[in-house]
Amino acid sequence: MVGAGPVGLTAALAVRATGRPVTVIEAGAADRVRPGSRAIFLHRVTLNVLDRIRPGLGLELARHGLGWSTKRTVYRGRDVYRRTYPPPRADVLPAATSLPQVVTERILLDACTHAGVDFIWEAEVTGASSGADGVRLDIADGRQFTASYVIAADGSRSAVRESLGLHLEGPRTSNAYVIVDIAEDAGDPLPLERVFHYEHPAVGFRNVLFVPFAGHWRVDLQCHPDDNPDDFGSEAGVRDWLVKVMPAKYADRVTWVSTYVFRQAIATAFTDANRRVLLAGEAGHVFAPFGARGLNSGVADARVAARAINSALRCETEAKRLAVIDDAAAARVAAATRNRAASSAALRHLQAASPGRKLIRRSAAVLAPVVPRLGKWLDTAPFGPTLDAPDRFGMQY
Ligand SMILES: Cc1cc2nc3c(=O)[nH]c(=O)nc-3n(C[C@H](O)[C@H](O)[C@H](O)COP(=O)(O)OP(=O)(O)OC[C@H]3O[C@@H](n4cnc5c(N)ncnc54)[C@H](O)[C@@H]3O)c2cc1C
Repeated sequence: MVGAGPVGLTAALAVRATGRPVTVIEAGAADRVRPGSRAIFLHRVTLNVLDRIRPGLGLELARHGLGWSTKRTVYRGRDVYRRTYPPPRADVLPAATSLPQVVTERILLDACTHAGVDFIWEAEVTGASSGADGVRLDIADGRQFTASYVIAADGSRSAVRESLGLHLEGPRTSNAYVIVDIAEDAGDPLPLERVFHYEHPAVGFRNVLFVPFAGHWRVDLQCHPDDNPDDFGSEAGVRDWLVKVMPAKYADRVTWVSTYVFRQAIATAFTDANRRVLLAGEAGHVFAPFGARGLNSGVADARVAARAINSALRCETEAKRLAVIDDAAAARVAAATRNRAASSAALRHLQAASPGRKLIRRSAAVLAPVVPRLGKWLDTAPFGPTLDAPDRFGMQY
């Protein structure tokens, strides 16, 4: 296993669940603290997959997360949709849970330690080569490791993927997004609502999304295509627009700011010529975060890869072994293609680049009070189409 991000840790747990030994090779130090919240939204299907890998893990993540039960959509300052669900029960997996990615990683790391996963920290993989019998990994300090199989979960710049001649391919968004994490004021919190503002009048009719997660708020501002993102993502820039959309005290509670132009890219293949490496997570795909398909589909990649390797190790013929790995890789390319299509649909809706698309959104907002399903459409469309039925590996993302 290469990479101790959330996907690599999940893959390590999934390998241990098959009863096999696994070693994670990670460039960072064991005590590193990774910046920012990044993936804050885990869907129930993902909690379920994690629970199947290690019983109790999904519920433990949910206990550390926050379940907001109100969704609200506002168009140019006017409410067009609001729905409140009953609060989740503490003893069953909720529809979703929201927590910082660093907390998810800490819980997964603890689970790995208990499951007997071995770690090699501060070992940056600089090259990988595969042959008929396995894989060799070269480390920056000159060490080399060999393995029968490798799951490459070393993130979007994956050295393993690139060494094997596989590359990410896909477009970038034309406009930038500024993403801000803000610590909640526990003594005087805001209502727990996910709120999407279309064309917020206080910030030059830019879209703004508010998502609560454990102890925090995530606020996304969508820049116009001709904006200079630095004007909105610098310390002064954030302060300037934030106080127009939240109570002023939150400008002093910012914990992380990041500006993104999102890439919608998928690896040319999820396995190498010798079928000894499988890609998982951002090594295989990067998506814009609307719809939360990145980590959620990375967890699915991890489980499918671990199970495929377990099956391949039991195959009696080379032809069967190749087929098992090929099958898993093809299934995850298909899933990534579905996920990218869904997040591209979300982006098209958010950007509304043509006057026609803007007019459709505006008409839906005008009619929403009398045609409630148009309000519902405005509420869900920024996150892309709803889930497909599970594939034959039982994965929805
Ligand atoms: C702003 C933002 C919001 C997001 N929100 C969501 C969300 O709500 N839900 C969701 O599902 N997804 C979300 N995502 C996506 C999610 O953060 C990623 O999908 C997730 O981090 C991918 O995990 P990973 O383990 O594949 O990669 P990473 O988290 O990048 O981990 C890769 C690991 O590999 C290590 N590594 C890298 N190179 C090497 C090397 N050469 N040798 C050894 N180790 C190496 C790194 O140190 C790291 O530990 C969001 C992303 C962003 C940017």
